[in-house]
Amino acid sequence: MKILVSNDDGYFAPGITLLAEALRQLGEVTVVAPERDRSGASNSLTLDRPLVVRRAPNGFFSVNGTPTDCVHIAVTGLLDFTPDVIVSGINLGANMGDDTIYSGTVAAAAEGYLLGIPSVAVSLTSKAGEHFESAIGIALELVGRLRREPTGEPMLLNVNVPDVEPDRLRGIEVTRLGKRHKAEPVTKLKTPRGETAYWIGPAGGAQDSGPGTDFHAVDNCRVSVTPLRLDLTHNTQLPLAREWLAR
Ligand code: MN
Repeated sequence: MKILVSNDDGYFAPGITLLAEALRQLGEVTVVAPERDRSGASNSLTLDRPLVVRRAPNGFFSVNGTPTDCVHIAVTGLLDFTPDVIVSGINLGANMGDDTIYSGTVAAAAEGYLLGIPSVAVSLTSKAGEHFESAIGIALELVGRLRREPTGEPMLLNVNVPDVEPDRLRGIEVTRLGKRHKAEPVTKLKTPRGETAYWIGPAGGAQDSGPGTDFHAVDNCRVSVTPLRLDLTHNTQLPLAREWLAR
């Protein structure tokens, strides 16, 4: 099995190093990841300049672009094979609910999915990063299952693993995305030149976090697995839009 690994925290992040190492027991692993932390990069592609790919001493490829650039370049030119699966992570911090819109971790997997490859984004749900081994175990379990038991059609799976010891995890739950409250206010700062600068604040707390959501699973020490799609059409609002325009 040929496995492409990427992330948004950068090619040097502990999460990607541990992930790549562990996945070697399931197949041939290639890492293509951003040269610096591009968390929050979403699905952006770099179109205004060429990108440079460098090889680190440990064999990882780094790219001076976004997570989406990394997977795009890897699949459409850098590699001489098509990966069987793409795994993005292990992200340091949750990607639940609306986070998925901004997440570079999810975006790297989404790019693989758009290119027709089964893709999995894996996040550890706290910034403390105390139990990467739990997320690694889940990534191995899911990729192992994909190898044994392909899903038929490619899936884009968004996985969030509670940052607890592996034996404290209470199973895997297939979930839908929850929703957060609106974001915390920006922080205003004075620059040395007397200008006002704005620092975007953290995401808000969970608003829709009832049973069935990723938030609820993680709050109850379960791993959440949410299948995502990238079709943004609001199908149930089609009649409203038609009716409004006909007025
Ligand atoms: Mn990140």
